[in-house]
Amino acid sequence: MSDHATPTLAPVAAPATELDALIVGAGFSGLYQLLSLRDRLGLSVQVLEAGDGVGGTWYWNRYPGARCDSESHSYMFYFSEELLQEWEWSERYPGQAEIMRYLNHVADRFDLRRSIRFGTRVSAAHYDDAANRWRVTTESGQVWSARYLITAVGCLSTANVPDIAGLNDFKGDWYHTGQWPHEGVDFTGKRVGLVGTGSTGIQAAPVIAETAAHLTVFQRTANYSMPAHNAPLTDEFKRYMKAHTAEIRGVMHSSPNGHSFSIRPRLALDSSPEERQALYEAAWRKGGLEFRATFQDLLVSKAANDTAAEFIRAKIRSIVKDPATAAVLSDIDHPFAAKRPPIDTHYFETYNRDNVTLVDVRAAPIVCATPEGIRTTERDYPLDILVFATGFDAMTGPLMKMNIHGRDGLALNEAWHAGPRSYLGLQVAGFPNLFTITGPGSPSVLCNMPVAIEQHVDWITDCIAHLRENGIERIEPRPEAADQWVDKVNEAANATLLPQASHSWYLGANVPGKPRVFMPYAGGMPRYRAICNEVVAKGYEGFVLSR
Ligand code: NAP
Repeated sequence: MSDHATPTLAPVAAPATELDALIVGAGFSGLYQLLSLRDRLGLSVQVLEAGDGVGGTWYWNRYPGARCDSESHSYMFYFSEELLQEWEWSERYPGQAEIMRYLNHVADRFDLRRSIRFGTRVSAAHYDDAANRWRVTTESGQVWSARYLITAVGCLSTANVPDIAGLNDFKGDWYHTGQWPHEGVDFTGKRVGLVGTGSTGIQAAPVIAETAAHLTVFQRTANYSMPAHNAPLTDEFKRYMKAHTAEIRGVMHSSPNGHSFSIRPRLALDSSPEERQALYEAAWRKGGLEFRATFQDLLVSKAANDTAAEFIRAKIRSIVKDPATAAVLSDIDHPFAAKRPPIDTHYFETYNRDNVTLVDVRAAPIVCATPEGIRTTERDYPLDILVFATGFDAMTGPLMKMNIHGRDGLALNEAWHAGPRSYLGLQVAGFPNLFTITGPGSPSVLCNMPVAIEQHVDWITDCIAHLRENGIERIEPRPEAADQWVDKVNEAANATLLPQASHSWYLGANVPGKPRVFMPYAGGMPRYRAICNEVVAKGYEGFVLSR
């Protein structure tokens, strides 16, 4: 978005509601941040949330098949033992509706709703240096003034709808999976086109194919996917989980990705081909992201990675009966897990159905939409419904959209014109008392999100407590500390194969014109946690604290 059309000075007319802290977003991070600041520190806090309910990502992503790829017993808050004991998941991977029930339960249990204003989208936030307060305006013209502004806007919340010529002329209905209608979409008897084969498209395709007359999947980049083997949780597992919460938390906090399984301490190339095959087979049968943990070098050694990549390609060729379709699905151009690997329920099997067609839009790109459907360079595909599973303007998108201006009217969009620059993914130089939960430069999307969120919220809460106890008015990073952190984020990414997926959203490469910068911190959650703790132990090293 352009800054030039927006004023850089705060509007002054409307009287503001005065707060200690204002939080934007009521997903996992906003809810926990509210609880921490309001009930632990006793601050006056307001949450503003664009949706009409809690849930964040899960409020918007209601597409068919929407399900988390973290196992349910790890996809929950661990800050309260009572909450852990009273909540019971029904399946190995929680579906969207069950996650919504969980977050609504959290909101009710901790009486959070009274501090959340729903249906309220922030249109601008300006830092007033003289008053040392953030002045936040909403689309409906409300104004809030807060000492601390905390963004809890999620990393994957700004839908990326491709700019396809003629889309407005399409006579059918089209939807983006991240803005799915609450009433659902009836595919019965319809010719459906699905654009995108990331985690979302791979989840949606099998479900849409069950009722659609025909499903045409437009694939630009082939993708790895492992079977989820989702299933109801047994009573035995539910009992185990409740009896071992401390142990499970321990594993989650020691694993680089914050999951409830450990990465095996062995190297792929140290095993014989037969041993490797057996280990991959066992991991495939078990299912889920744990496949990635079969060997510790899969994300750092291309040769090791090739063994996993080839195993999955062979699986695709063995599952998909039509050799031409199998060839297009297994022609994958990046290392395994260099893009976030999806996990699926019968995705590749879906191509064995008579009512499903795969279209290779790398070979024959989409030219435009027509009133009747989609036109590629090869032919027309008549459609009734078009579904875009085309991802998000990830990590920076929701922050850039908020029209944030720091000291001297500096626009965040200006400060980040060449890519995000933060210190620890927590704060931005020139934007005092602004905290970005799971912001770019933090492990965020490379970690099981609730683990990353709890660490950030606890750090921010402790920081604000420290400021208040010591009469400190402001905190913001030193520019050189932010520069050094950006270098560390780049170093951490370059030590892995992750940047080799040159078109991934981790790099911002999925959004035309977005600067190519590797955004999340890839050094692992335990190392990141230790760095954040050390910064505090050294008196908030790298930050300027002023009275
Ligand atoms: P994504 O990973 O960015 O995938 C978008 C897909 O759309 C890609 O296949 C992309 O192709 C394609 N695409 C984009 N623009 C296109 C165009 N103009 N023409 C043709 N194809 C186009 O988005 P996502 O699948 O929504 O997933 C985003 C992230 O959300 C995931 O990586 C994951 O972190 C999270 N997520 C998690 C779950 C889960 O927990 N199970 C489920 C869904 C999403 P290219 O690759 O060629 O760009």
